Amino acid sequence: MYPQGPAELSAGREQLVSYSRRMLDDGLAVGSAGNMSVRLGGSVIITPSGVPYPDLRPGQICEVGLDGTAISVPATVSSETPMHLAIYAATDAGAVVHTHSPEVIALSSVFDELPAIHYAIHALGGAVRVAPYTRFGSDGLASAATAALSSRRAAILQNHGAICYGRTLTEAYERALLLEWLARTYRLARMLGEPKILTDAQLAEVAAEARRRRYGEAPAEERRNSG
Ligand code: 13P
Ligand code: ZN
Repeated sequence: MYPQGPAELSAGREQLVSYSRRMLDDGLAVGSAGNMSVRLGGSVIITPSGVPYPDLRPGQICEVGLDGTAISVPATVSSETPMHLAIYAATDAGAVVHTHSPEVIALSSVFDELPAIHYAIHALGGAVRVAPYTRFGSDGLASAATAALSSRRAAILQNHGAICYGRTLTEAYERALLLEWLARTYRLARMLGEPKILTDAQLAEVAAEARRRRYGEAPAEERRNSG
């Protein structure tokens, strides 16, 4: 969780604008699709609803309490605020990123899970579940997403997109990029034949080695203002 104060609030707003633009540049969303948020102590700052990312300004970023109470809402708050808040309530997330990335969406329309096609999936907690389809912005989607995130840091929303969280916005965003890359890799493998999938024991071995090497221990906190 980020500390809370005027400087953090202002830096957090800038960072949300910068990563929102990156989401377009990296092809993880088009137009105003997707949303992202950062937890600041007892509140959450989140992107507004339906604002095209090239037009998004720090002053349009909304702030709500952990129970959804409006604190500062200069524009309509994201329709997925219930899903973001449910994830903060269920996990130790410091930031949440929701994308409409194409490889993930294509996979979600065919499969119920993204299996362990590559060892890097251990950073997401293992095979990534596809949560059953529920309308965007619904409480049902918030519960389906949180259930699919159990012991995971990423989940796929059927016929919709991806949801990832991390200690920082940088970490959550990098997980969204990793998830899209893994989905693409899986599609390429399926085009060639029946992929070999890593076992739980092989993934546990990777996790142990990553711990030994202290991979991912610095949550890119120092990079969180670099945008
Ligand atoms: P908002 O523009 O309301 O954040 O919604 C975008 C979206 O991705 C809905 O799932
Ligand atoms: Zn969406």
